[in-house]
Amino acid sequence: MINVAIIGSGPGGYVAAIRCAQLGMQVTLIEKYPSLGGTCLNVGCIPSKALLDSSEHFYKAKHSFSDHGILLNDLHLDMQKLISRKDAVISQNVKGIEYLMKKNKVHIIHGIASFKNLNTLSITKADQSIEELSFDKCILATGSKPITPAVFNYDKKKIITSTEALQITTLPKSMTIIGAGVIGLELGSVFARLGTQVDVIEYLDRILAGMDLDCAKELQKSLKNLGIRFHLERSVTSVAYTSDKSQVLLKHASKSNDDLKEMVSDYCLIAIGRKPYTEGLQLQNAGIQLDQKNKVIVNDKLQTTCENVFAIGDVIDGPMLAHKAEEEGVFVAEILAGQMPHINYNLIPGVVYTWPEMAGVGYTEDQLVALSRNYKVGKFPFKALGRARASADLDGIVKVICDSKTDEILGVHIVGARAADLIMEAVSLLEFRASAEDMARISHPHPTFSEALKEAALDATAKRSIHN
Ligand code: FAD
Repeated sequence: MINVAIIGSGPGGYVAAIRCAQLGMQVTLIEKYPSLGGTCLNVGCIPSKALLDSSEHFYKAKHSFSDHGILLNDLHLDMQKLISRKDAVISQNVKGIEYLMKKNKVHIIHGIASFKNLNTLSITKADQSIEELSFDKCILATGSKPITPAVFNYDKKKIITSTEALQITTLPKSMTIIGAGVIGLELGSVFARLGTQVDVIEYLDRILAGMDLDCAKELQKSLKNLGIRFHLERSVTSVAYTSDKSQVLLKHASKSNDDLKEMVSDYCLIAIGRKPYTEGLQLQNAGIQLDQKNKVIVNDKLQTTCENVFAIGDVIDGPMLAHKAEEEGVFVAEILAGQMPHINYNLIPGVVYTWPEMAGVGYTEDQLVALSRNYKVGKFPFKALGRARASADLDGIVKVICDSKTDEILGVHIVGARAADLIMEAVSLLEFRASAEDMARISHPHPTFSEALKEAALDATAKRSIHN
């Protein structure tokens, strides 16, 4: 029986543990924190979505319930309750993982793992005792941490990252967010909906780099309407704090004669990305190498430069997403079992859980231009949908990109209500290499937001959309 040690219990590590156990391996999962689930369950996907849902309810109750004839008196926010509900959601999810580990007979050790040699880990526990664990195979799933450059003076009190932002129990009056990526915009939405004045600073001339530009522009308009102020093409030169305020100095990213501008707010949230986490692992003792960006180097089997150690999730290259880490966890378990699994990295969907939501899969137009591929585009606006009018969720578009000759769908990008769920139709169709004509001929239930996908596909095939 193969004896597998997995370091890190995030969505990469715990999913790998379950799949290894299903395939008959003896599995030990090592986690440095008392709580299982990693970034995703404790300080990432789940808590941020809990706060996004709560804040959306509050915003709708305040701004749009009356349009539906629902009149509320004395609406107010209990921030402590909102945060304790989020904590309860985390705890239920963590208990779920503990149950799955028991069910699959995965042995758990809480402690900090490091490599002693090619086949042995040294695990330092909370009481400072050390346990040695030998393994046949090891899976590194140690995840990532926020990037906090020294000049940003990250103090965890006034200058914070997403980890601290998820714990704020008194509603701030103002917040400056550095970075218009997914995490910055999701947390910016939470606070803006609750009533905080949110300012987002971004170095580039657009939000959500890497995602579809048209959708990003639409989303930016909606977020402006929510009250978020954007400062694009701005570079932050310094961040400082006093006992009750943060102060950010910024200037135009390319104009050298631009005057420095000061932005003072209750909090400065640094959301400029995350970096792979390998601290303290003593990787050199097992000959495991990192690339220039400090990501663990792996081959196409996700094997590191030490042949019996594999790596998955945020600690290696690729999108830092929970579902990507999960796919890789299953992949490595199946490789260890001698199977021939496959991951199509081009079909890992990306989602932004703002309102409207934004989601995309496959190629963007920018990528296709760079590849010199000929393509055609079909679009459909949400405002032409009966369902969107019924629920007053009119913002957004669907864009279907397909090969200009073969009609094969190459990418689908959505900004609009429930984009996070709608994108799965596109993922399935791309996985089976469907054409826009296939998508257009599938019966979509009426009235639903999914009709926008059908209409955009009709537009892509021969500009024959029915409702626009
Ligand atoms: P992690 O989840 O980071 O887990 C790594 C684990 O390894 C941690 O528990 C850590 O304590 C442990 N560890 C590290 N070193 C050691 C050691 N030496 N010994 C023992 N244990 C160790 N992704 C999505 O797909 N959807 C989302 O909606 C989403 N929202 C997010 C929101 C926020 C605010 C953030 C910060 C992230 C979000 N992500 C989201 C990203 C997602 O959380 C990560 O991509 C995912 O958690 C990566 O999984 P992982 O298993 O690679 O690592």
